[in-house]
Amino acid sequence: MGTIYTAHQQELAGVIDDAPSRSSWTDWKWHIKNRVTTVEDFERVLGIRFSETERRAHKLTTARFPMSVTPYYLSLIDVEDYANDPVFLQAFPSPRELEISRHDMTDPLHEDSDSPVPGITHRYPDRVLFHVSNLCSMYCRHCTRKRKVGDRDAIPTRAELAAGIEYIRNTPQVRDVLLSGGDPFMLPDETLDWLLGEVERIPHVEVVRIGTRMPVVLPYRVTEDLVAMLRTHHPLWINTHFNHPREITASSRRALARLADAGIPLGNQSVLLAGVNDCPRLIKTLNQKLVQNRVRPYYLYQCDLSEGLTHFRTPVGKGIEILESLRGHTSGFAVPTYVVDAPGGGGKIPVMPNYIVSWGANKVVLRNYEGVITTYAEPDSYEPNYCDRDCAACNLTLKEDDGQEKACGVEKLLMDWDDTVSLTPEDNERLARRDTDAA
Ligand SMILES: *Cc1c(COP(=O)(O)O)cnc(C)c1O
Repeated sequence: MGTIYTAHQQELAGVIDDAPSRSSWTDWKWHIKNRVTTVEDFERVLGIRFSETERRAHKLTTARFPMSVTPYYLSLIDVEDYANDPVFLQAFPSPRELEISRHDMTDPLHEDSDSPVPGITHRYPDRVLFHVSNLCSMYCRHCTRKRKVGDRDAIPTRAELAAGIEYIRNTPQVRDVLLSGGDPFMLPDETLDWLLGEVERIPHVEVVRIGTRMPVVLPYRVTEDLVAMLRTHHPLWINTHFNHPREITASSRRALARLADAGIPLGNQSVLLAGVNDCPRLIKTLNQKLVQNRVRPYYLYQCDLSEGLTHFRTPVGKGIEILESLRGHTSGFAVPTYVVDAPGGGGKIPVMPNYIVSWGANKVVLRNYEGVITTYAEPDSYEPNYCDRDCAACNLTLKEDDGQEKACGVEKLLMDWDDTVSLTPEDNERLARRDTDAA
């Protein structure tokens, strides 16, 4: 494959750098060095002019929430209609980021309070989120970790990463490690190679995933060297973050192909953003294009309640409407799970249209995507497996040697071997009254 950049991109390289070399545009380090971080540079490079009032508002916003855009991502902006451009809206600050609504929180997902050691968020029983870099090549305006963006512009040292590795090593229930950040691909290849090696050497770690937006905002980061290194660390999964079909370009397609050819299963996590992608047709096109490029749509996120994101939020109903237009209408593997990440740190909650219309003792009434109402007859003779967690005596063939894991949450209510009948919030007034009455 030859060089893939457009005349427009070649021209931009000349505006940004007095003497770009022939390979500047496809050199990821050139893009990092030449990130656009000021309102003036943004205007100069794109050849647009804001009014004095606009410029003042933009500067006020960047003082609170910094800006950084790679020349590549900037080159995708349609200058003729930039105000409505999905790339512009994700990259350039809006004065509305300073509107803090009464629901906003600095850390809505409680990632900091669920953090046993710096860099680790341990929320779910068997997996952890490992923040391995504070840096990103492009600062997404809709970042859920907006509070941290630009905080400390330094690559963490191996010593700083060691605390996280140590926690994983000492926590045997962790079988899945999710490297996130910032963007893990901001780390040099050697550091990443070392880190992946350290993590995979931990006997109880079964799989590692990397969350990165590089294929979208700086696809040249996916070099042959990087991919050659990554493929020595299987089983490795990668999730990326495309939000709009316009982000799928010749360059990003090549980056995705390299990763897929290295045997890395690829997933995508989109965020539902007002004015950017809150449209069923647009999301369907996006997901179909992703599938065409061997990327499985994984999650569609409801926009978080982080400060500065109010103007991006849609009602949850918009997401359900989008899901309604996907399921049945297109390939099942082009349909992501729509999730609300629970404020307060409850984790991701899947939300979808209702397909169960009613339920009787012998039949379930269901409806399909066309509105056809159908029935499913429950079996007349189902012999339930009574489970006392004695897998050795069970006629199902999986012989689990230790039934040590505890049931948790709603799952517990369904278990034969657990006597829990109900779950009650800690501060339930009715039960508090009972206690007082008894006293
Ligand atoms: C999203 C997330 C995970 C991974 O969740 P999956 O549903 O397994 O993809 C793990 N830890 C935290 C804190 C997360 O936010």
